[in-house]
Amino acid sequence: MTFDGFETLAIHAGQEADPGTGAVVVPIFQTSTYTQDGVGGLRGGYEYSRTGNPTRAALEECIAALESGTRGLAFASGMAAEDTLLRTIANPRDHVIIPGDAYGGTFRLFSKVLDRWGVKWEAVDQTDSEAVRAAMRPETVAIWTETPTNPLLNITDIEALAAIAHEGDALLVVDNTFASAYLQQPLTLGADVVVHSMTKYMGGHSDVVGGALVVADPELGDRVAFHQNTMGAVCGPFDAWLTLRGIKTLAVRMDRHCANAERIAAELSGHPAVGQVLYPGLPEHPGHDVAKRQMRAFGGMVSFRVRAGEDAALKVCDRTRVFTLAESLGGVESLIEHPGRMTHASTAGSPLEVPADLVRVSVGIESADDLVADLLQALDF
Ligand SMILES: *Cc1c(COP(=O)(O)O)cnc(C)c1O
Repeated sequence: MTFDGFETLAIHAGQEADPGTGAVVVPIFQTSTYTQDGVGGLRGGYEYSRTGNPTRAALEECIAALESGTRGLAFASGMAAEDTLLRTIANPRDHVIIPGDAYGGTFRLFSKVLDRWGVKWEAVDQTDSEAVRAAMRPETVAIWTETPTNPLLNITDIEALAAIAHEGDALLVVDNTFASAYLQQPLTLGADVVVHSMTKYMGGHSDVVGGALVVADPELGDRVAFHQNTMGAVCGPFDAWLTLRGIKTLAVRMDRHCANAERIAAELSGHPAVGQVLYPGLPEHPGHDVAKRQMRAFGGMVSFRVRAGEDAALKVCDRTRVFTLAESLGGVESLIEHPGRMTHASTAGSPLEVPADLVRVSVGIESADDLVADLLQALDF
């Protein structure tokens, strides 16, 4: 008999009771080094905490189980995970296809850092799988995708992109931050690497910055682990512990995030002050069918356009009282922001520029009635 339901793994994978003390919860091993019984005689397999730490190892094993991968690796942030992966898989003159509306930090990593090291990159509208196929080159080493995207909630077809990547001997990398491991498991759909900003839903409480990679192929896992140790942007023991604690409730949190977001998307859809609601759970969303196929539910992020324009959108962000005006997402508390002036300000004037009348909400797990009432009063002009 195997006990491998998602909710069970979230609470138990990598988290046996501590053999020394019986502690039920994995302790915070706040230590940099480990005593040796004679030179090279490691007691528990650990020698130095950049290379390995038991609290981090528990988290790494847990996320690997949740994503059905062979190896998980935890980093100091989502961006540290991305940087480590890209320096593992891309050499100068290699080519990577990124989303037309990539996360701003990912776009900056390619355009301002990897570009200087000679890595070629190209932004493509990946909602059109054929456009991705057309962009493949002999030197393409990876297709990097995100689904749903930020802040426009576009959906890309993971199975189709995996097939295109593999035809060209490239890897498919999926940034799974918006869906979380609970709503979508890209490796089971053919992807090779999953990236997480664990700062968001995986941690889930807006109290820690962290990142992760999960890979399907053990040999690639070894190569990434080599770079993780060499570059050293590892997740610290306390951050790993906070993230593990957050992951235990991932499934129940996500169920509520999704239910509240669906309710809000429905309420906003008919509202006279709202022009367009971007939410993959709405049947009219262009990615709805693909999202339905590859996600368990449609997530906790909703974006909408305010009919009266940018000033009105800014006012909505100012007027909410349960939704807190802040960047980031994925925590239990609801957040609201204006992407054009906040998270996506750096895309102004570029092809990635977002509409000025756009508002993005990260729907938390408070009372749905309160959340709806708060948005309705903020939209009452
Ligand atoms: C936040 C985020 C990142 C970056 O993660 P950090 O933990 O902030 O470094 C990457 N991708 C997506 C989709 C994100 O939302």
